[in-house]
Amino acid sequence: MPWCEPCERFWNPASVTTEGTCPACGAAVDTPAPATRCRTPWHFWLVLAAATIYLGWRAIQGIALLL
Ligand SMILES: [Zn+2]
Repeated sequence: MPWCEPCERFWNPASVTTEGTCPACGAAVDTPAPATRCRTPWHFWLVLAAATIYLGWRAIQGIALLL
């Protein structure tokens, strides 16, 4: 849980700003979770691209069988 030192309270990860700062006082909260959560790893896009190409190819094959 993101913890704000000046406010002495926990924040919901969704309510923390995208910069990882407190929405009430603007201080940096302890957990860098929002920054890491929003950053998509490069291999995710590689897998997504491969799956899209593969499924696209299978779709072409499936349509070709019907013709
Ligand atoms: Zn605060």
